[in-house]
Amino acid sequence: MAIPYVFEDEIEHGVCKRLTPLIRRVICNNPGPFTYTGTTTFIVGNGVVAIIDPGPKNDAHLDAIISALDPSEVVSHILVTHTHSDHSPLANALEEKTGAKICGFAEIKNDRQINKSRIDTKVAIEDANFVEMEEAIQRDFNPDIPLQHQDILNGPDWTLEAIYTPGHINNHLCFLLHEEKTVFTGDHIMGWATSVIVPPDGNMADYMDSLERLLSYDIELLRPTHGPEIENPKAFIQAYITHRQKREEQILGQLAKGTTKIQDMIPVLYADTDKRLYPAAAMSVLAHLEGLVQTGKVICKDEIKLSSDFRLK
Ligand SMILES: [Zn+2]
Repeated sequence: MAIPYVFEDEIEHGVCKRLTPLIRRVICNNPGPFTYTGTTTFIVGNGVVAIIDPGPKNDAHLDAIISALDPSEVVSHILVTHTHSDHSPLANALEEKTGAKICGFAEIKNDRQINKSRIDTKVAIEDANFVEMEEAIQRDFNPDIPLQHQDILNGPDWTLEAIYTPGHINNHLCFLLHEEKTVFTGDHIMGWATSVIVPPDGNMADYMDSLERLLSYDIELLRPTHGPEIENPKAFIQAYITHRQKREEQILGQLAKGTTKIQDMIPVLYADTDKRLYPAAAMSVLAHLEGLVQTGKVICKDEIKLSSDFRLK
């Protein structure tokens, strides 16, 4: 099944919209090729609330979040799905205004945290800057409450559970709102596009595991940080998985034909794609190949980089 993308082009920046009895949203005025209509900041609960993904450093957005709250409301927690610059940096200013505790994954680690049996890989750092598609990373993120997989935070009318979902970046968390069987998916799953995986902070093998991980939960709705909500979450996640598996099969097919270099695979794999997107496509293929090396299907004799030779094992 093709990915059943969903779009919501008509939105109002900086305006609070109530989505459900427990969820309000405010969208930041930072639209772009990787943020779609902008960063959605969610307010969860009533009276004592949690705020998910405060957004980029942006004074107007900070004012909009504060205005969205009733003057008597208290912000107890600021939850961060991951430390890309369009998600986490406003947390500090919001903490100063509200006294809330910042909660997020403890630190970026480069070891494999989900599957330690994987083969270790090293991705050349120069390639990480090969394309400007990569969202900048807030490297000084330091949560008051470091979260681990399955940690639970509570308010009077809400329960949020952290689900560790590395892949887009290795400190990514999704948050499950138990009362509504809704998952705030950050950039792990988006409705309007596929998630961008850029090594070395992004990792395709972790990403695929994290998609499978979400399938094991009893959930009814996904709320990404960019774009509209996703209904039928399991079918959507399965379509995301199938999309990546197909690409992986195509890459293995290229290797079977003796094509060893990414630059020679791209024109074949992305024949229908605008050539300006080839650098981004190359990073995606690199991410797939790193995953295939880690799972032992592909061999790369040197550092994993765009110019390396890859072979089937
Ligand atoms: Zn991101």
